[in-house]
Amino acid sequence: MRVMKIGVIAIQGNVEEHVRALEKTLAEQGREEGVVVKIRHRGIIESCDAIVIPGGESTTIGRLLEREGIVPELTEAARAGKAILGTCAGLVLLAKEGEVEVAKTGQPLLGLMDVKVKRNAFGRQKESFEALLSLSFLKEPFHAVFIRAPIITHAADPVEVLATLKGHIVAARHGNIMALSFHPELTEDRRIHHYFINTCIQGRNKS
Ligand code: GLN
Repeated sequence: MRVMKIGVIAIQGNVEEHVRALEKTLAEQGREEGVVVKIRHRGIIESCDAIVIPGGESTTIGRLLEREGIVPELTEAARAGKAILGTCAGLVLLAKEGEVEVAKTGQPLLGLMDVKVKRNAFGRQKESFEALLSLSFLKEPFHAVFIRAPIITHAADPVEVLATLKGHIVAARHGNIMALSFHPELTEDRRIHHYFINTCIQGRNKS
């Protein structure tokens, strides 16, 4: 079988942390031959099996994705059933619609998940916090780091809610696409990266 290739959008934000977490996860699964590449321009996504959109500033990442001509490639990857993971700012970008700030600034969204999002939803004094989160696909809670985190305010069918915190949706999956409000790349717990790579393998086996 062809070697697995995972691309991390490397325009801005927590890029290195995701690359490291993915490399360690591949090694833990005995897939040392798998590669993780950084995506800064168009022409790379087509050869990737899975894509990660990291946290950072969704306005900046979105603008540069447009400028570099990467947006249509991401749309095509989603359509082709490739696994896509968006964390924090990545979650904002994956959404179809945004509230408040997102709507006001008219920032570009990829619209790949049928959800509505709200940026910086936990307020100023709680810009960063940590919480033990129950995710539907994990047996034990996950220590989740939230940094100026967004929430999903509305998820349409067939979006599956994977976790809520204080009544807000903070993790969801729409087919091959998964979005998280928090940063799994900032802790040493790689269960979410394992789950993501397994989703990617299922997608490859189907195609
Ligand atoms: N608040 C940021 C945004 O909406 C996301 C923060 C993050 O990715 N840590 O772009």
